[in-house]
Amino acid sequence: MAIVNNRLTAEQYNENFSDIHPPFESREAALVEANRCLFCYDAPCIKSCPTSINIPKFIKQIATDNIKGSAHTIFSANIMGGGCSKVCPVEKLCEGSCVYNLMHEKPIAIAKLQRHSTEKAISGQWRLFERKPATGKKVAIVGAGPAGLSCAHVLSREGIEVTIFEKESKGGGLMTYGIAAYKVTPQFCEDEVNYITSLGGIHIQYNKELGKNLSLPELQRDYDAVYLGIGVGVARQLDIPGETLDGVVDAIQFIYELRSKGYPAVPVGDKVAVIGLGMTAIDAATQAKRLGAKEVTIVYRRTQEEMPCTEAELEIAKLDGCKLQWLAAPKEVKGQDGKVQQLICSIMQLSAPDASGRRAPVDTGQTFTLEVDMIIKAAGQVPFEALITSEQIHHQQGKIIIKNNATNIPGVFAGGDCVNGGKEVVDAVQAGKEGAAAILEYLVGSEQLAVSNHQHK
Ligand code: SF4
Repeated sequence: MAIVNNRLTAEQYNENFSDIHPPFESREAALVEANRCLFCYDAPCIKSCPTSINIPKFIKQIATDNIKGSAHTIFSANIMGGGCSKVCPVEKLCEGSCVYNLMHEKPIAIAKLQRHSTEKAISGQWRLFERKPATGKKVAIVGAGPAGLSCAHVLSREGIEVTIFEKESKGGGLMTYGIAAYKVTPQFCEDEVNYITSLGGIHIQYNKELGKNLSLPELQRDYDAVYLGIGVGVARQLDIPGETLDGVVDAIQFIYELRSKGYPAVPVGDKVAVIGLGMTAIDAATQAKRLGAKEVTIVYRRTQEEMPCTEAELEIAKLDGCKLQWLAAPKEVKGQDGKVQQLICSIMQLSAPDASGRRAPVDTGQTFTLEVDMIIKAAGQVPFEALITSEQIHHQQGKIIIKNNATNIPGVFAGGDCVNGGKEVVDAVQAGKEGAAAILEYLVGSEQLAVSNHQHK
């Protein structure tokens, strides 16, 4: 058993990491699907989209061959509508609430239709928005992830100059660095960021990290307002013996390397255990398999009923040949010569439901052993608590506390994963929009801004 890179041929890597949700084969195929939509009054699909995209409207626009109008409808509500069409868990959001489900028929392929329009807009660099005249205001945004980019786009459209400070060398945040490459390619993420900034008035400064080469007082001094969209990023530790052995890695780091270094450069074991069953765990497990691991076992301490990933995600893992070990919790990592060899797991059982109906996993005292040469930890992420504390921002266990999108520091706003502890990309996009609205209110006051824009026309 060994952890090695370059296990496959270039063709195998390409095949294993090709698009899992291919686009419509033709314009006609998209039209046929668009024409299935019932254009429901009070459409449930809109209500279940966190960014409230007017879904029947954009589908109607596709059905009438108005692709530009359709892309405009999507981007007006969600400027990352392209990426979201690839990574959203649509089976529990828009498509899950489509009325066709009630008729036991296939829901409208909303994500695929959304992708149909947005990909054309991004690759064709369609200019769908104009900026309002300059207000003379400047805003600093920390983090070029979905929340920061979404906030920046709204502010820039309103005539505000925005500078985004990003600690990585590319924008996109979780979308660029934290999602399986067969769902969204690094190239698409780059194109999407460029498309967003092509509006103008948005400047990104890369390799700038809050607490390292960037400070909040400095931003407060130089800008009229600050928005923090710094996400969550520190992997939760297992706190078990042997966790530091060679071969035990964080899922986020594993996925990050895969996306930034390229597939052949990332080492993977023969026998891999993945701990956790959220979306990141699934992405890590499936990609370990696709990198050439012979055996991948996902270890989860509850049952399928409580799993945080969706059924569709679980299905991808099963189709990729990943094994599931339910009711198992990591107890100890054993190794030799500093290298991991075994994962000892406790066998769990679920307690009776508490008042909220939640059943806790309880250790039965029995164990079993998995022979492994690599362990990927995907037990969740924790917020940047030390950083937030050092900047004197009020928080609860590292999650920034906001009131109407504002932190306790005047002129400093926040949103997305650093506030909610980690949700979907689409939730961060919505948070960015709400943050921008609060900043506009703070800077000029909505009425005054409207007047000043009017005067410039
Ligand atoms: Fe169309 Fe389904 Fe939305 Fe109704 S619920 S508008 S059928 S996508």
